[in-house]
Amino acid sequence: MKQKYRITLLPGDGIGPEIMAVAVAVINSIGTQFDLEFDFKEALVGGSAIDETGEPLPAETLKICRESDAVLLAAIGGYKWDNLPRQQRPETGLLGLRAGLELFANLRPAKIIPQLLEASPLKREIVEGVDLMVVRELTGGIYFGQPKGVFSDEQGSKRGFNTMVYSDLEVDRIAKVAFEIATKRNGKLCSIDKANVLDVSQFWRDRVNLIATNYPNVELSHLYVDNAAMQLVQSPRQFDTIVAGNLFGDILSDLAAVLTGSIGMLPSASLGISNLGLFEPVHGSAPDIAGMDKANPLAQVLSVAMMFRYGLNQPEIATKIESAVNDVLDYGYRTGDIMSQGMNLVGCQEMGELLIKTLES
Ligand code: NAD
Repeated sequence: MKQKYRITLLPGDGIGPEIMAVAVAVINSIGTQFDLEFDFKEALVGGSAIDETGEPLPAETLKICRESDAVLLAAIGGYKWDNLPRQQRPETGLLGLRAGLELFANLRPAKIIPQLLEASPLKREIVEGVDLMVVRELTGGIYFGQPKGVFSDEQGSKRGFNTMVYSDLEVDRIAKVAFEIATKRNGKLCSIDKANVLDVSQFWRDRVNLIATNYPNVELSHLYVDNAAMQLVQSPRQFDTIVAGNLFGDILSDLAAVLTGSIGMLPSASLGISNLGLFEPVHGSAPDIAGMDKANPLAQVLSVAMMFRYGLNQPEIATKIESAVNDVLDYGYRTGDIMSQGMNLVGCQEMGELLIKTLES
């Protein structure tokens, strides 16, 4: 009997439906080649969900996601919904999705694609060969810690504050994810903290060291976050896998992304307690080019590759998709965002067709 996967598709807003169409075509082509069956269910999230149901994350969407083997999201948001109260904004739907699926680990690879080396803002000799993965804790730390708020004292002066807090369970589980990923990559893990100043960071470091005893084959190092930011710009090739808490991971994953120079090429994955993961490009819904067939679908397609590698445990398929992306770039095809002199400009749809042709050749 054919192996069957249930995939929830969340095309969202803006360029979302255009790049999702390419992703679905790629998955279908993979199905034919590897004799797999895919049961797709499409659901609403973000602005399109607000328009149809009045809320950014309808309960039905969460239910469909929970009943699937993997969730593929494109992007949400747009000018139309920018002035709604926070609870009704598209972004609230995304946060609700991550929380509702208990996705505590965010994986963001930053890999220099040789054909796009010139797009990096850094010098070629610094970024050439960079291939790293940032594992960011997503549901704890200062973004969620209590108490928080703005308070007035008796004299009427005000104070705003948040709490950076991590439990042993929270650090242990993200550390395990990071060690597992480092094991599958080049066996090097760098943990980021601010243990010279913050008690919570010293606690983080102690727990990571404890978990490390179960992974003798992974070479563990620690860096203070300020030094890590400098090292990422000065000599990013030294990194393989990086693990960080929510705040530091947020900042460093954006910094690492900039090294590659092309937002339309960056995928991500969010993993949780169960095997169910959410896979999505790093970029947003690009409302400025929505509906114009100008979107770069490659970050979405590389998110499909991450789905196969980290969600469905099919690394061979992931590698095949990544190679096809590489080949299409080698043949000189580019969407507008990564266009350079002498290359062939194509739209979103044509890029998809070229990918399928490459996958099937
Ligand atoms: P954005 O990533 O949508 O766009 C930034 C710039 O990059 C734009 O010029 C856009 O045209 C370009 N761009 C982005 N993706 C591209 C692609 N695949 N191909 C070609 N060009 C691409 O960020 P923004 O403009 O800050 O935000 C637009 C909307 O997206 C906002 O509503 C924001 O809240 C939302 N957003 C959503 C997510 C998400 O869904 N995860 C992430 C970030 C922003």
